[in-house]
Amino acid sequence: MPLLQISEPNQSAAPHQHRLAAGIDLGTTNSLIASVRSGIAETLPDARGVHLLPSIVHYQANQLPEVGVDAKTFAVQDPLNTIASVKRLMGRGLADVKMTGTQLPYDLVASAGGMPSIRTVAGELSPVQVSADILKALKQRAEDTLGGELTGVVITVPAYFDDAQRQATKDAAKLAGLQVLRLLNEPTAAAVAYGLDKQAEGIHAIYDLGGGTFDISILRLHRGVFEVMSTAGDSALGGDDIDREIALWMMQQAGIAEDAARSHIRELLDIARAAKESLSTQHSITLDVPLATGTRWQGEFTHEDLIKLADPLIQKTLVPCRRALRDAGISAEDISAVVLVGGSTRMPRVREKVESFFGRKPHVDIDPDKVVAIGAAIQADILAGNKPDNEMLLLDVTPLALGIETMGGLVEKIIPRNTPIPTARAQEFTTFKDGQTAMALHVVQGERDLVVDCRSLARFELRGIPPMVAGAARIRVTFQVDADGLLSVAAREEMTGVSSEITVKPSYGLQDNEITRMLQESIVNAEIDLKLRALREQQVEADRVVNALRSALQADGHVLLKREEFVNIAAALDELLSVANGTDIQAIKHAISKVDDLTKEYAARRMDHAIRQAMQGHTINEFTEKL
Ligand code: ADP
Ligand code: MG
Repeated sequence: MPLLQISEPNQSAAPHQHRLAAGIDLGTTNSLIASVRSGIAETLPDARGVHLLPSIVHYQANQLPEVGVDAKTFAVQDPLNTIASVKRLMGRGLADVKMTGTQLPYDLVASAGGMPSIRTVAGELSPVQVSADILKALKQRAEDTLGGELTGVVITVPAYFDDAQRQATKDAAKLAGLQVLRLLNEPTAAAVAYGLDKQAEGIHAIYDLGGGTFDISILRLHRGVFEVMSTAGDSALGGDDIDREIALWMMQQAGIAEDAARSHIRELLDIARAAKESLSTQHSITLDVPLATGTRWQGEFTHEDLIKLADPLIQKTLVPCRRALRDAGISAEDISAVVLVGGSTRMPRVREKVESFFGRKPHVDIDPDKVVAIGAAIQADILAGNKPDNEMLLLDVTPLALGIETMGGLVEKIIPRNTPIPTARAQEFTTFKDGQTAMALHVVQGERDLVVDCRSLARFELRGIPPMVAGAARIRVTFQVDADGLLSVAAREEMTGVSSEITVKPSYGLQDNEITRMLQESIVNAEIDLKLRALREQQVEADRVVNALRSALQADGHVLLKREEFVNIAAALDELLSVANGTDIQAIKHAISKVDDLTKEYAARRMDHAIRQAMQGHTINEFTEKL
């Protein structure tokens, strides 16, 4: 045995240079960048000492765009070229954007593939390009402050972002010259900032009230993995709405008519916002509002006034909170921590309402508008490899897809290749046969479509499924890869709650060259796999049709079918049986559709028959009474 090497305490065995990494909160209203310096995660200010970067970009012809506060000043004079709230457009089609009814002051046009483009003097720009300009500004700020090039970043996204929205965010980062170590859910980042990932297992509520959006997420920490149990929110509710209420109140108090206000509504909203923000720490302030006549109106605005205006809006956030709890199947008492996120949660009234709703004091020690960026920075520091080995738990990805065998020897992938771990994913499956009470689960790993070409990891069974018709049972299979790379698979029948679980160990002890070989094979064989998959699917369908028809014929074929009909259907069934296990996909399809055609009338009669039987011995009045 070689001599053990001894390293200095708190130094990893192979010390390397500190890699510059950052966490980015790419927000709808404001964005931030943060980094871990001397062990502390902190947001980075611009040259003026300001941390928040308004997510606004102003474009001019033949000039570099301005980003942030500088861009914001153009919102009034040049609205068509001043792009705000672009996050709402990321990864969305023009049709989706129009449907959400979002009012945007700039021109949207359709570009290739129905994606929205923004028409500016600098040309038609995609939301990805605009986001990239915000990211470039943050990158520049970080490199100026940290004095070197960033090796990688973690960017946060809302938990409800789908694949297209996540991909668009990654594309924007690429365009900005950033290497994305990982996209991280905003609520997860907030939980990480508070170190909730280091605590015991628990369920946490993350309440995020920003400028224009409200999100509530229920996270469950289980074996070091954050699972999103539910999300809810309101994409058109935030601090901006409170500003609008205050502006309307000011107009009333000052006797400003609506049409007179139109020209300087921006200015009124800015005064309203400043007033609202001051009242988070003061009891009352004096408003000073310019009037069209050139004179000014002055008046008191107190915290009580603000509460009256804001309460209905704050109350509105509790509706999604209730929904999120319900969707997660829990009640407020099950929550072990509440985290506040978003600038609007600085309002004392919001804190009060959240506290009384969840029945516990929320975490507020970290600035609510910085908490997401700080969590992202902590994660980025780990992913960049700046932590001693024992803290590098979140670094890995799954090298090959993990999935489950379905009928016909096909693989249903549940966790795709390259998913950062820890991770948890679930999918629903159902029974294949009427009255099926057990299900054999076969866990496999690999990129290929057929089970025989993948690696078998484990088999286990779920028993005690109540007998139902084929396809009625709902079995939720959850795959979870924990921080150590251990895979556990759980299956649960949703109606009865019966469940079964297995842990696979080690989850993917494949050698590098084995992974390379499996990947190469999957590329070479992609076309063959596709054809085989189609064939297997037809074979499975044939099997299903044969089973269903056989049991129907047995039950009432002789009662409901004329002799000649029975003979014809039986012949079609025989024909299907003779091709069902062959390789001629067209023949199988043809035989299935022939059976379908011949049994349409039979199916209708069975339905009639069933209804008539149900009504036998009852009068029609009994049924109408129940309606
Ligand atoms: P987003 O996540 O949408 O990018 P933020 O989390 O930065 O937005 O929140 C912006 C909102 O927070 C604005 O409506 C702003 O007025 C509000 N806000 C910021 N500071 C305060 C404060 N001290 N008191 C009340 N509201 C505040
Ligand atoms: Mg935010």
